[in-house]
Amino acid sequence: MSRYWSPVVETLQPYVAGEQPRMENLVKLNTNEHPYGPSPHALAAITAAASRSLRLYPDPSALALRTAIAESYGLSPEEVFVGNGSDEVLAHTFQALLKHDAPLLFPDISYSFYPAYCRLYGIAFEQIALDENLAVQIADYRRPSGAIILPNPNAPTGIALGLDQIERLVADHPDQPVVIDEAYVDFGAQSAVSLVRNHPNLLVVQTFSKSRGLAGLRIGFAIGQRPLMEALERVKDSFNSYPLDRLAQEGGLAAWQDRDWFEQHCEMIVQTRERLSATLGSLGFHILPSSANFVFAAHATRSGAELAAALKARAILVRHFNKPRIDNYLRISIGTDAECERLVEALEAILTDEPTTA
Ligand SMILES: *Cc1c(COP(=O)(O)O)cnc(C)c1O
Repeated sequence: MSRYWSPVVETLQPYVAGEQPRMENLVKLNTNEHPYGPSPHALAAITAAASRSLRLYPDPSALALRTAIAESYGLSPEEVFVGNGSDEVLAHTFQALLKHDAPLLFPDISYSFYPAYCRLYGIAFEQIALDENLAVQIADYRRPSGAIILPNPNAPTGIALGLDQIERLVADHPDQPVVIDEAYVDFGAQSAVSLVRNHPNLLVVQTFSKSRGLAGLRIGFAIGQRPLMEALERVKDSFNSYPLDRLAQEGGLAAWQDRDWFEQHCEMIVQTRERLSATLGSLGFHILPSSANFVFAAHATRSGAELAAALKARAILVRHFNKPRIDNYLRISIGTDAECERLVEALEAILTDEPTTA
């Protein structure tokens, strides 16, 4: 704390990202990065864009990238908004669409950036408890609210709602913006983009960080009808006119156009996830049904904190949340088959040792 701070800074509870240590021989399964990406075409486009043209500002509207995204969904570029990672798109969304007198609703176990944005922008919020199976029940959202945001699949559970459930949620709240954060949708859930045409209150947010292997390039986007886009653009142009640099615009476009690479590698990750889930099950883990590029797993007899620490001692990072109801779970990103094998071998060794008393 310092007397030089603006008063709001004292009230902030910033998001804590998963660690990115520099360590030899590390198996990094803690931040849901893509084990293979990005597409070689994206890398080639980024290399080509690393030229003297960098002395010039990029296209402030990233029109080529927005057009490519819009075309794949049969939409117009005016219905696509892009930003520096979906975290920035979400931040602008919180400010532009989610601040009302009535509280914003989101699940009690969900992406922990949401309450951080609420504190930053002074947004009233209410967290709705997941059910006993750690699933979202959309009926629980039928209460006074200013807006709703949910990840689908949810993070860190990995559980997805069906498109019929999302449509019911959006239709239940015609007077409120409903935001669906689809960071993990490409690993087995159904996207709500097809609902945008009929629902002026729906905003769908996606990212290139997970399924396109470009977490380091920072590209996210939102899809919705024009009045919602206009609100986002007003906030964006009051904040940073050039959120996507030249490398991101060119690399993002090439990544988006490389549909074959994208589909093939999503499928590989899904298959590894299914194999890993079965193996973890045989080691005594309870695993939630995942539609994401991670699994959320709790062991029958060993605590989440103990397992996370023992894995870390073996240079394997997974994410553990010290939070009621989920503190026995580990969130394990799907790595390559070789990385998952190292994880399983380490768990087998840890589980045959005597438990350490914490
Ligand atoms: C990873 C993640 C994001 C943010 O991704 P960016 O890298 O900022 O695009 C947003 N929402 C959820 C639920 C995520 O897990």
